[in-house]
Amino acid sequence: MMKLGALEAGGTKMVCAVGNEKGEILEQISIPTETPEITVPRLISFYKDKGIEALGIGCFGPIDVNRSSASYGFITTTPKLAWQHYNITGVLKEALGIPVGFDTDVNGSVLGEHTWGIGRGLDSCIYITVGTGIGVGVISEGRLLHGMLHPEGGHILLQKMPEDTYRGFCPFHENCFEGLAAGPAIEGRWGKKASELSGERKVWELEAEYIAQALVNYTCILSPQRIILGGGVMHQQQLFPMIRARFRELLNGYLKTKELEDLDSYIVPQSLDDKQGVMGALKLGMMELERDT
Ligand code: ADP
Ligand code: ZN
Repeated sequence: MMKLGALEAGGTKMVCAVGNEKGEILEQISIPTETPEITVPRLISFYKDKGIEALGIGCFGPIDVNRSSASYGFITTTPKLAWQHYNITGVLKEALGIPVGFDTDVNGSVLGEHTWGIGRGLDSCIYITVGTGIGVGVISEGRLLHGMLHPEGGHILLQKMPEDTYRGFCPFHENCFEGLAAGPAIEGRWGKKASELSGERKVWELEAEYIAQALVNYTCILSPQRIILGGGVMHQQQLFPMIRARFRELLNGYLKTKELEDLDSYIVPQSLDDKQGVMGALKLGMMELERDT
């Protein structure tokens, strides 16, 4: 069996793993995301001497995934200043001497679910993380969707509820999905940790409203066959029935497909025990190895 490296590069932590082409994780550590000077040598020392044939990175962004660009493989305009315009792919490729695959963290997660999880066999599906931020990864016609840059589905603009006086925490938009509905928005609006608000019905009704609005938009634009939701906030399982009910109301019978008849299997939680990101990164490494050979 082949050994592959996987890196789920997040704004607060780096999850580093070694696994195989069956998606099995053999070894995993987590290190804090500090500056590249501090963190990258720790990444290199984890992966070197492990006998891995390729590495895949699912990375926080924005990043450059355009292979014909001079800054392909770079983290670009991130608000994490120490990582701005940093060539994470090139540095690791040089240090490890192996092929390195690179995509967004959420494209990694949708790839993990599409390869080994609840997205298996589908032509199109999307993965949405609702955590410290919000992001959307897209498989369309069997392939990861990129476009001009890559989808930035967390920053779509939503209709704010009139009773919601919270301004939104996104510095760029007053009413984007991430600013209104990611973990920090819940905490900023209600003044408590999101995990401590489980019993507060109003909190989750508003959260489900914003998530449902976003999902209607994704359904209309991307036409996914399944929508997979993950990230810390989605640990609030009571959100799922609320999101499905509001989604149905907002779509208002406009589309009739077999998938939409059964929203319990259309709008679903992640299926890989929160390993979808790191498993997807393994797959990114496998794909890069295939391209190279
Ligand atoms: P990240 O997005 O940084 O990778 P997570 O997906 O774990 O990490 O998201 C962290 C966010 O999720 C925090 O803002 C936190 O408020 C929220 N969160 C974590 N656990 C829960 C929970 N059980 N219920 C609601 N929100 C949670
Ligand atoms: Zn925004």
